Amino acid sequence: MYLKYSIPSVLIVLIAATCHASAKCPPFKATSEWFAKIESIAPAQPLVVPKEPRKVLILSLMTGYKHWCNPHTAGILKILGDKSGAYEVVLSNELANFEADTIQQYDVIVLNNTCSQGAKRHLFYDILQDMDKALVLENNLINHIANGNGLAVFHGGIVAFNKSKQFSKMLGGSFHYHPQQQIVTGRLVDETHPITSAFDGKPLVHCDEPYYFKNAYLDYNFRPLLEMQLAPDGPADKRIKPGEESIKRYISWIKPHGKGRVFYCSPSHNAQSFEQPELLQFILNGMQYVAGDLNCNDTPLTEK
Ligand SMILES: [Zn+2]
Repeated sequence: MYLKYSIPSVLIVLIAATCHASAKCPPFKATSEWFAKIESIAPAQPLVVPKEPRKVLILSLMTGYKHWCNPHTAGILKILGDKSGAYEVVLSNELANFEADTIQQYDVIVLNNTCSQGAKRHLFYDILQDMDKALVLENNLINHIANGNGLAVFHGGIVAFNKSKQFSKMLGGSFHYHPQQQIVTGRLVDETHPITSAFDGKPLVHCDEPYYFKNAYLDYNFRPLLEMQLAPDGPADKRIKPGEESIKRYISWIKPHGKGRVFYCSPSHNAQSFEQPELLQFILNGMQYVAGDLNCNDTPLTEK
């Protein structure tokens, strides 16, 4: 999971400081020093007081593309819960957590860059090599959310079941493709929304992979939070596929699913993004929404 080489910490600071200018964010280890930095800038209080103790399962399993920010993302989610008291985290990659009786203990399921591999694009199949069993566990997850619980998916986590129509419908889309990394601006769709209030009216600007989506995404059956904007002089190759230029590009949204709630957050491919306190607050707010504590407008675009 960690890189086999190390980078002097001074160099990391220099690289991070120049990241936005170069639109390249080099990998670095998830060290205790880095987590201490995150701890120092993470919100001390939750946006709203939890109605009851919340238990969050973070699945950081990947069988396909291995995101270097995977341990960083899991770590910041734990810090956000621990420091604010909004929720308690269980870090586990055991698929037994998705058995029908076991999953009941979790208020929120997090898919942290859970990229799947191969033609089937099904994370559970990749591990189990048994599609019948894999589908049972996928259905358990979907039913658990529909029954009133929360799902939070970060960046490559959307690839977990990328060919599943029911997963795409629940999440609000499937991964399509991404142009190369560049400066990505996340425009606040509604700066007064409780979740995006974290940004205090200013857009999220960072270097990231511009994620484009397909399948259920084209239904726009969600409430968008951040709309992607790219610089006109950014990398032009593979930028937008022909015929897709006019499609609205959102990179974060929320939506109800049955009695439950879903939060998708494409930011970020790079751990450097989490050094922005506003993004940490935004993620905490989204976590409180899926936990069922933050009441806010989640009416899908299609129903306004
Ligand atoms: Zn990525």
